[in-house]
Amino acid sequence: MSGRLQIRAILGGLLLAVFGYCMAQLLDERGLLKETALVELIPDLVSSPYSAPIQEVKPELAVSPEPRKKHIIVDAGHGGRDGGTQGHGMLEKEWTMLIALLLNDDLKERGFDVRMTRKGDDTLDLAERTQVSNGEANHLFVSVHLNWSAQPKVSGIETFFSPGRVLTAEKEVRRELEVPPGAVLDDTRSQLLAEAVQQHVTAVTSANDRGGKDGAHLFVLRHCVAPAILIECGFLSNEWEAGLILKPSYLKRLASGIADGITHFLNSVKEDELYGVMITPERPEIPSPEVLSLSATTIPTEAGDLPDVPTFGVAQEDVVAAP
Ligand SMILES: [Zn+2]
Repeated sequence: MSGRLQIRAILGGLLLAVFGYCMAQLLDERGLLKETALVELIPDLVSSPYSAPIQEVKPELAVSPEPRKKHIIVDAGHGGRDGGTQGHGMLEKEWTMLIALLLNDDLKERGFDVRMTRKGDDTLDLAERTQVSNGEANHLFVSVHLNWSAQPKVSGIETFFSPGRVLTAEKEVRRELEVPPGAVLDDTRSQLLAEAVQQHVTAVTSANDRGGKDGAHLFVLRHCVAPAILIECGFLSNEWEAGLILKPSYLKRLASGIADGITHFLNSVKEDELYGVMITPERPEIPSPEVLSLSATTIPTEAGDLPDVPTFGVAQEDVVAAP
């Protein structure tokens, strides 16, 4: 790891720790949190236990050797008194449960620890679902739903992602890390997770790709500490899609596509500990005068001449994109 990368990793660890603390304070105020140790709330992707390629984990080695287990929360939408939407004789809560159970099995076979917010036809309010997710140091929260539209022709899959985490506690994080006023703080992990899931699930099902969408209006996404997504697996109002959802083989493909996306995301995190977490400086870095004179004397132009005015070694698009 280079010195620069190390600094980045340390900064990132600090960032996540501070962020976790801020979220804990926030949730405590809202009464969503019982007596949970602060350390358990930090979504510490930085110390991911998945040091071996996830696909290569054999079912018999499924139990993580880590003393502190980490989980993926699978949330079957609705349940109990809340049936969700309905169409073509199908009630959403029953079908989200089937998909969630298949997803649970698939993820466990891949060596992940999984916890479900409900295992039966239980009534859970949104705060209770969030509380399950925030009760342990989880990597991810995935909520499974089915869609409905007044337009019977509308079909397809869409995935909502939670808003940038760091931004939730931006003021505190900036103060703790002494981030310069002009620098941009961002956490796009939920969005990257949503994009990975959307891409994989539409690939294996050939469903209409309705894309990844900002789910800032969705309570469960807004209040989850870990990267969180809500996937709408298809429209019960569409006769053709409802017919597909009736088929066990299609449900299995839906579940495996979601699991593929999750695996892809966690593999990316394994390669880059701060995947999706960024601190962007106010201005692009300008090389020192020595570097400039070196590049001016060693890199000839296509015509073999030296450039009249040395460039600053910064791509034009970077300059344009700088805030
Ligand atoms: Zn729903």
